[in-house]
Amino acid sequence: MRKFRRYTTVTSDKAFTLIELLVVIAIIAILAAILFPVFAQAREKARETSCLNNMKQLTLAYLMYIQDYDEVFPRRDNGDADIIPVVRDPTPGDSNGVVYSYYKNFGILTCPSESDRAQWVDPNNVNALQPAMTPYWSSAWFGWKAAWGWGQTYGYNGLRDPNYPSQAVNRRPLSAINQPAKTILLAHSLGPRGATWGAGWFIEWQPDALAGFFVPITDKHFGGAPVAFCDGHAKFVLQKVAHANNQEPRDDNPDSMWSIQ
Ligand SMILES: [Zn+2]
Repeated sequence: MRKFRRYTTVTSDKAFTLIELLVVIAIIAILAAILFPVFAQAREKARETSCLNNMKQLTLAYLMYIQDYDEVFPRRDNGDADIIPVVRDPTPGDSNGVVYSYYKNFGILTCPSESDRAQWVDPNNVNALQPAMTPYWSSAWFGWKAAWGWGQTYGYNGLRDPNYPSQAVNRRPLSAINQPAKTILLAHSLGPRGATWGAGWFIEWQPDALAGFFVPITDKHFGGAPVAFCDGHAKFVLQKVAHANNQEPRDDNPDSMWSIQ
């Protein structure tokens, strides 16, 4: 009898009360609230690394092109889609961009953090892309987004704006780049969204103009973006550093051609 009583006493001492259970649940909830954002940040950091890797591969494609063409950077565009450097043009009779044959993989054109742009790029079937923005465009230019650079997030420092003509590297000989390790070649760009043309396939020195035609470098990855340089190396750069006034290209100083100081 005594034995039995002791047994019941012990079990009642070890049972959890409702309060104890609630405390345990609350602690688990607090830990989850702390950890889940950390997991999300870790995933975003992984995407940033993947973005940097994409850009590095595209940089190598540009450098291979440059070696094959007398060390001259490809031109960005003269209003003809055929010569935007990285595109594949599915229109019969039109030619691909000059850099296209050096990478041949649309998968590396889009940052994994920008899946809304990535959906426009199907590396396995460029002729069956999602239709463009309006029924008119989709019927007239099936695959237009990839052909013209939609779906790209890596901008070429190739636009010679009349206000900043010294910034761009396009069509310059490599020997004319005085600081290749500091001069920008490509960057994850902040393409204008909802525009009828002009996606992320170029970057332009215009820190104050964040919409429309002008395309600065994005702050998508923790306030900055991967940037590739004319010597072939690539690294993460904060947007505010890339856009700081001391980086402003100046015609009277060729060394200042959009370089990260
Ligand atoms: Zn990115």
